[in-house]
Amino acid sequence: MIGSRTRGFWRWQAPGGWRLWVHWSCPLFALGLSTMHARRMARQVPELSPGSRLSTALVAGCLPLASMLLHELGHVVAARCVGLRPRAVILTPFAAATIAPEDPSTPARQLAFALAGPAANLGLAALALATARLAAPGPIRGLALMASWLNTALGLSNLIPSPPLDGGLGTHAWRWYATGDRALAERQSQALGQMVGGSLLGLAAAEASAGRRGFRLAVLATAGLTSLVGPALARRLGPDPFGVMDKP
Ligand SMILES: [Zn+2]
Repeated sequence: MIGSRTRGFWRWQAPGGWRLWVHWSCPLFALGLSTMHARRMARQVPELSPGSRLSTALVAGCLPLASMLLHELGHVVAARCVGLRPRAVILTPFAAATIAPEDPSTPARQLAFALAGPAANLGLAALALATARLAAPGPIRGLALMASWLNTALGLSNLIPSPPLDGGLGTHAWRWYATGDRALAERQSQALGQMVGGSLLGLAAAEASAGRRGFRLAVLATAGLTSLVGPALARRLGPDPFGVMDKP
């Protein structure tokens, strides 16, 4: 793999013919999270050796980006299985994407491509949970629980049925299969995504007006907004939002 830096991204050529693009802010993001975890562990588990605390904090800081990368690798594997040729995987601290020049040619292929990312996360989440149950109390169990929680959240949030999220690509595949009309299926899946977004925002408003603040309100509001603005944003940005597809 050859590394080089282009327009804010480091690129690596993967053996399968695609490139991994990593934004320069990713290591800073991981380092910031690691520092946060190290400080928390110094307060909560002072009996651990400094070396154990540091290595645990470093792994914990890298977990979110590693989970996002795993998600995209799920898409890459599925893309190659269904005859697509992925060109790039893009990783930034707050978004990741797999870029392929062509669309899947059948609803079943689209569904396989869409579900592979969340499936990779949910598979790892189950494995990490089993590891946490077997492990003795300590850093390994803590990291396994964190990996399980993160990957469950990532897998499920991507299944919200609003394009361009994977759940939205899944409903597009379903409507395409049901109607035989790809363009109609796209309009239907976008309309469904906006209905889901409106409903989630309605639930968030009900939570807020009942005086309930906290995690559930934040999740409902974020999921609702993502579902509402996602389709418009995806149309505006096009299939290659970072413009990396055919960069030399
Ligand atoms: Zn995905």
